[in-house]
Amino acid sequence: MTKKQLEENYQQVLCNIENACQRSGRNPEDITLIAVSKTKPIEMIKTAIELGMTSFGENKPQEIRDKTKSITDPVKWHMIGHLQSNKIKYVLNTCELIHSVDSLKLARQLSKQAEKKECDINILLQVNVSEEDSKQGFMLSDVEQTVREIATYNNLHIKGLMTIAPYVENLEENRSIFRQLGELLIDIKSKNIDNVNMSILSMGMTGDYEIAIEEGATHIRVGTGIFGERNYNS
Ligand SMILES: *Cc1c(COP(=O)(O)O)cnc(C)c1O
Repeated sequence: MTKKQLEENYQQVLCNIENACQRSGRNPEDITLIAVSKTKPIEMIKTAIELGMTSFGENKPQEIRDKTKSITDPVKWHMIGHLQSNKIKYVLNTCELIHSVDSLKLARQLSKQAEKKECDINILLQVNVSEEDSKQGFMLSDVEQTVREIATYNNLHIKGLMTIAPYVENLEENRSIFRQLGELLIDIKSKNIDNVNMSILSMGMTGDYEIAIEEGATHIRVGTGIFGERNYNS
C-alpha cells in the first residue's frame, strides 16, 4: 500500500462519513473514525498518522503493547477484540477505550487490576444483537441488568455499547441490528444510572459503517476500507 493509496482510501471514507451524516442530519464531527490497524505494520500506521488519522483499533493485547512501544505519537488506541483476563496487563495503560467487555468475569478482573494499578478504565459493553452462537457479547435483554451491576465496580467507567453485525450480502439487513442497539443505548441513558455515561455507540465496519452512522453510531471501526485486505499468513 503506497501513501497515495492510503490517502485515497482515507479520503473516500471521510467522504462517505460526510454523506451518511448529511442523509441522516448528523454532524461529521460527532463521528470518531477508528482506523483498524490489526495485522498492519508499524510503518503503515506511521503513514496513517502523517495523513491525519488519530484513533487506531487493535484486537490483540500483545499487538497493542508492541505497537504502542514503537509509536509514541499522541494517538488513541482502542481495544476491539476479545480480551482474556491474563492479557489485561497489556491494555491497562495503553488504551483509550475497551470496546469488547463481553462478560461479568472480565469486567470484574478489569476492575480489580485497575484498582491495583490505581488507574481508570473506560469500557463499552459488547452486545450480541444478532444472537449468533459464534459471537461474544451480552444478549440485548441482559444489558440493562449487566450495566447496573458493572456500574458498581471500582475504577471502571461504562461509556456505551458496541456490536459487531453479521456478515450479510444485503447490507440493509444490518440496519435493524444497529437500530436496536441505538434504541437500547437511549433507553439505558434515560435511566441515569450512577457511574454510567451512555454516550458511545461503537458499530459499523468497512461493509456497513454508512448504515451504522445513519442509525446513530458515534464510533465506527474501519480496517479494510482504509488499509486494504488483511493477510493473516504473513
Ligand atoms: C477487524 C475488525 C473491524 C474492522 O473490520 P473491516 O471489515 O476490515 O473494516 C471492526 N471491528 C472489529 C471488532 C474487528 O475485529
